[in-house]
Amino acid sequence: MEAAQRAFGNPALEFALALARARKRPVAVVFALDPSGSTGTLRQHAFLLAGLAHVARGLAERGVRFSLRLGSPPEIVLGLAQGAAAVVTDRGYLRHQRAWRAEVARRAPCAVFQVETEAVVPVELAYPKEAVNAAALRRRIQPLLPRFLRPLPEQDPPVPSANLPLPGPEEPVSLEVLGKMELDRSVPPLDLPAGTEAARRRLAQFLEGKLERYHLDRNDPTRDGTSGLSPYLHFGQISPVEVARRVAEAGGPGAAAFLEELVVRRELAFNFVFYNPQYDAFAGLPRWAQETLRRHAQDPRSALYTLEELEEGRTHDPLWNAAQAELRTAGKIHGYLRMYWGKQFLLWTSDPEDAFRWALYLNNKYALDGNDPASYAGVGWCFGLHDRPFPERPLWGKVRPMTGAGLRGKCDPRVYIARWAQGGSR
Ligand SMILES: Cc1cc2nc3c(=O)[nH]c(=O)nc-3n(C[C@H](O)[C@H](O)[C@H](O)COP(=O)(O)OP(=O)(O)OC[C@H]3O[C@@H](n4cnc5c(N)ncnc54)[C@H](O)[C@@H]3O)c2cc1C
Repeated sequence: MEAAQRAFGNPALEFALALARARKRPVAVVFALDPSGSTGTLRQHAFLLAGLAHVARGLAERGVRFSLRLGSPPEIVLGLAQGAAAVVTDRGYLRHQRAWRAEVARRAPCAVFQVETEAVVPVELAYPKEAVNAAALRRRIQPLLPRFLRPLPEQDPPVPSANLPLPGPEEPVSLEVLGKMELDRSVPPLDLPAGTEAARRRLAQFLEGKLERYHLDRNDPTRDGTSGLSPYLHFGQISPVEVARRVAEAGGPGAAAFLEELVVRRELAFNFVFYNPQYDAFAGLPRWAQETLRRHAQDPRSALYTLEELEEGRTHDPLWNAAQAELRTAGKIHGYLRMYWGKQFLLWTSDPEDAFRWALYLNNKYALDGNDPASYAGVGWCFGLHDRPFPERPLWGKVRPMTGAGLRGKCDPRVYIARWAQGGSR
């Protein structure tokens, strides 16, 4: 288990149980934490571990052994694979996730199966190459959806394995483990309940109170009109199929708008990181966007900020500073403001490569849902990815502009600014 951190609604787990039934063998679920903490901060790992405590409890209820280990994920899996009939893994689209799985597949002495757990429609089936925009993917993905929006039956383990002996050192599933990791501890944990139950509660609240108006409210940062599910989806604490199915069943214009985000936009991000090897670099952007931004790099700017000034939210723009304060304090930025936040880096940095790197760095450092395919596609979008060229302007070149004046035409950000100027609360 790596990407799909859940004991329920997990196709990799159900596949492993079915395979075990056919071979009359027990199943053990192993999670390996990389002690270098290269994939996140204290904030992100604390949420991950709190979620794993629920995984351990859920698996115990189902009579399935869970083991948490500290070390290189492929080495740990390969060590345990020596005595195994098969290894089953969930699916991750980022470079390191793919490298871990490829190494296990290359060196394991037994069969290795990878099961799609994070996309509703597996990425290669949805589209055979990098999609230029959402429209291209939408056309292909929508007809495939009914095939995948199905409930996942849960099975009992063929052999109860809760007490199965396994070789090698294990860790307690508690926050204690964080003390043994080399983490960036400057970003504190959040007070947000983790795990599948919490995610399902949030989904239920969304279905009851917000879905109907989602298409109207989602772009207004002064309203709490979105689902808030992205951290749970990012850590695989809830199945995207389960979310999509419940929303599709509800129907209506809110549901259609939500499925556009959850399936088309989210899976466009998977498509991007899967097919574009430079997904985390300026060089991964469309050529026209790189060229136009380079051409306008020397345009006179009203302000230039250092990374430190940006990180501390010390710009002349109170709205941007408020968004940065929300990111640092609450680990998120409202979806619409996140676009505004990402685009302003271009105005205040004379090198567009720095702008791209800094936006990605701050997003991935502070956002609870950071280091996700949607982080790369989201920041990339601010710099022209999956978008079309617009009429050329100073500073922006041909990249779609987004200004505070435009935003104020849609909502009144004063309440938001006042809240975050005073430190804010969740
Ligand atoms: C600069 C920038 C950075 C971003 N960084 C991240 C990130 O680190 N992690 C992340 O998950 N998303 C990121 N996004 C996409 C989007 O902002 C968030 O997914 C969304 O705001 C999460 O809030 P929510 O769960 O309430 O979304 P909802 O509006 O309720 O949407 C439901 C789900 O659909 C998916 N989704 C929504 N919008 C997008 C989108 N534009 N692209 C891809 N998937 C989407 C998410 O999984 C989300 O949870 C970024 C966008 C931008 C512009």
